[in-house]
Amino acid sequence: MTQVEKIRLSKSIVGEAEAEALRRVIIEDGYLGMGKHVQNFEQKIKEYLETEKEIVCVNSGTAAVHLGLAGLELPPDSEVLVQSLTFVATFQAIGAARLRPVACEVDPATVTIDLADAERRITEKTKVILPVHYASRVGDLEALYRLAEKYKLRVVEDAAHAFGTIYNNKKIGSFGDVVCFSFDGIKNITSGEGGAIVTADPKVLAHIKDARLLGVQKDTEKRYSGQRSWDFDVKNQGYRYHMSNLFAAIGLAQLNRLEAEFIPRRRSLAKNYFNALIDIAGLKLFENDFDLIAPHIFPVRVLGDRRDALRQYLIENNIECGIHYLPNHLLTLYGGGSEKLPTTEQLYSELLSIPLHPGLTDEQQNHIIEKIKSFFQ
Ligand SMILES: *Cc1c(COP(=O)(O)O)cnc(C)c1O
Repeated sequence: MTQVEKIRLSKSIVGEAEAEALRRVIIEDGYLGMGKHVQNFEQKIKEYLETEKEIVCVNSGTAAVHLGLAGLELPPDSEVLVQSLTFVATFQAIGAARLRPVACEVDPATVTIDLADAERRITEKTKVILPVHYASRVGDLEALYRLAEKYKLRVVEDAAHAFGTIYNNKKIGSFGDVVCFSFDGIKNITSGEGGAIVTADPKVLAHIKDARLLGVQKDTEKRYSGQRSWDFDVKNQGYRYHMSNLFAAIGLAQLNRLEAEFIPRRRSLAKNYFNALIDIAGLKLFENDFDLIAPHIFPVRVLGDRRDALRQYLIENNIECGIHYLPNHLLTLYGGGSEKLPTTEQLYSELLSIPLHPGLTDEQQNHIIEKIKSFFQ
């Protein structure tokens, strides 16, 4: 088979439903800013997660993590325990909240934060532990919450990969302290760009609802009833982080497709990969319960120092690959590698993500599997 078109690593799966939703906002509503569609999206996320917690939508997942942390109102330079192996957005959001990321090792079986390593890094300034649900895996989240309780830490979950994932019979976001989602162009659902914070903490909620609108107090309630605040007070640093009606409309259309269409397809593709690649000696696959997670990416470990060779081979065969992620402790802003995290660095040299999105056809997936097998033959 000759594959002429490049197979994308990930992409937005959008079409008539999203276009129609945008059309309705533009033609029928005419107001593109933050209004009733955002309120409706928040309500629908709440129903989807089956939670009593409140949802606050913002314009990116990065903004969600930033405000989730800012809402805790911690002393500046408080320390946040976080795995180094995450998207730079996580670290930038911590810095934006004027807190200090403390880079931790990961458990190589799940690529989630190594709790023993994190515990060793706790100081008097440590106030938060921030788990990243890497590749939709949450690790031992119960143990993480027990550790947080023991040291009186707040928990802010970077659940950008885990919208739709189930843990202990509950959806991620329906329980926990402060949980942050991303709806950027390639996540399990997209709103174009966007994110959401889920929490039950009234102080955090009040802070972030204002902070997404430049800190203008109680502007959210006004906007949801079609008004604006002209006479107001500001008590906290705020940002221009609110979501627009247009983006919420896309998100609503996507949410309708998540359970019936996106999650089953992601699961089935991930299971196919797993079954087809598990016997290849040069690869190590991550174990997952594919009936519980909503797989966002499909990283594998390439053994024997052959990651870059496999990557090159796949690119030459029009198959796009990813490396999730460059560890943050290697970046200049976070120490430039002056501290060694051996497990993280070893994993980084092995990780390769192969295409996973609901638009991937069986034919494309078979082609990818064939090429990986032929590389190792
Ligand atoms: C996507 C992502 C983010 C940031 O979300 P944006 O919506 O792109 O700002 C944060 N953390 C992780 C792990 C992500 O994958």
